[in-house]
Amino acid sequence: KVRLRFAPSPTGPLHIGGVRTALYNYLFAQKNNGDFILRIEDTDSHRFVEGAEDYIQESFDWLGLEFDESPRKGGPYGPYRQSERKDIYKKYVDLLLEKEKAYIAFDTPEELEAKRNEIRNFQYDASTRLSMRNSLTLSGEETQQLIADGAQYVVRAEIEPDIDITVQDLIRGNVTINSSILDDKVLFKSSDQLPTYHLANIVDDHLMDITHVIRGEEWLPSAPLHVWLYKSFGWDMPQFAHLPLLLKPEGNGKLSKRDGDRLGFPVFPLEWKDPKTQEISSGYRESGYLPEAVINFLAFLGWNPGTEQEIFSLEELIREFSFERCSKSGAKFDYEKAKWYNHKYIHATPDETLAAMFEPVLKQHDVIAPHEKVVKIIGLVKDRVSFVEELWDQAAYFFVAPESYDEKTVRKRWKPESPAQMGELADLIETIDDFSIANQEKVVMKWIEEKGYHTGNIMNAFRLAIVGEGKGPHMFDITEIIGKQETTLRLRRAIE
Ligand code: GLU
Repeated sequence: KVRLRFAPSPTGPLHIGGVRTALYNYLFAQKNNGDFILRIEDTDSHRFVEGAEDYIQESFDWLGLEFDESPRKGGPYGPYRQSERKDIYKKYVDLLLEKEKAYIAFDTPEELEAKRNEIRNFQYDASTRLSMRNSLTLSGEETQQLIADGAQYVVRAEIEPDIDITVQDLIRGNVTINSSILDDKVLFKSSDQLPTYHLANIVDDHLMDITHVIRGEEWLPSAPLHVWLYKSFGWDMPQFAHLPLLLKPEGNGKLSKRDGDRLGFPVFPLEWKDPKTQEISSGYRESGYLPEAVINFLAFLGWNPGTEQEIFSLEELIREFSFERCSKSGAKFDYEKAKWYNHKYIHATPDETLAAMFEPVLKQHDVIAPHEKVVKIIGLVKDRVSFVEELWDQAAYFFVAPESYDEKTVRKRWKPESPAQMGELADLIETIDDFSIANQEKVVMKWIEEKGYHTGNIMNAFRLAIVGEGKGPHMFDITEIIGKQETTLRLRRAIE
């Protein structure tokens, strides 16, 4: 059985790239009837941000991507917060020390700083470790004494120099590096008795029986160390897949929050208020996106089905997803495409559902309207919008009479004869008993013909009087909804 995990660190709001990573994990897990796990990697207390974990969970609730095991839900491999697994890691640090795959280092920050000043591009590794203060250069008694005296220490990986380390990656194939470029990474710190990311990550993936590690390309440089750790423990390795970076729309570098600010689009799934600065960043949810549209859009940032099809339900994505169709090169973030997807999904959403989403917007404008009326109006205008909020711009005149008339349209479409003609039209409409679309059209067209008026001119002035500008669906669709009384009222007001 495959088991995949999404393992964010709660250091702030989840970036949209993180959501993409989680989505690919989810798709692959679902496709193989496997498990999808949320593990919170919070061993770095300095970078912990209040509220970030709840934010992460809420984001997935909104997107409808459900975890099989998580801090909230629990599960057979818990706890799922690394801060609650503290006691587990020490044992594995000791195991590495026993296997002589790690050593204890006492160098103070000052000593390390001095070394960096002395040696250019200093790296703590096989070439330098014997000139440092650690359990390899001190005797066993000295080491024990220092620890007993309460000296602070770290445990470092003892990486053998000049060996090949190969990461087998499902997207990139085999990536081989020489171990000499790696430094002796810190795996554990005595100061807080906590492991660092690398050790905790590997131990947990092993203990939680994770079969596939799917994560962003930014972790590829860490992967050789991870491979080395698995080998040092003597454990089976999960399969790795490093997903391409999300790039700026221009393609020059990694997408950041600043690009969103600069170009006016969200880079977070939900709105986020920074607990320190109180600064608010916009989210896809609050910007009016449908979760299905966000999922579809994100799925295509780094994967493609190899066909022309662009609209995929979650079920279709699960069926079609594969690593073979993931790209190695970065995916340019195309915000216009996000809007396009939302437009498509709005269009495909039933009018009933959209009406329910639109009703809070109406309320903000102090409009109370019968539900059936709202549903009908949505059917007429939804083709014109990409967001639920935009429905108001397209449909306000159904609920409130125009307060002013668009100047340009007036200049072009309100003729000297329009006032008289609209007066006649108002009188005519007052006499119509059957106010169905078809009958209104029949009566009005007959009147135009008998009078020898120009149809275009009449209809343009009519629209201006009812809508306030030149846009909108078919005229009699509009008047049928707003009703006879309101139609004549607006015609007479326009003449004044
Ligand atoms: N905690 C890491 C992160 O924040 C996890 C990386 C991984 O998936 O191994 O992305």
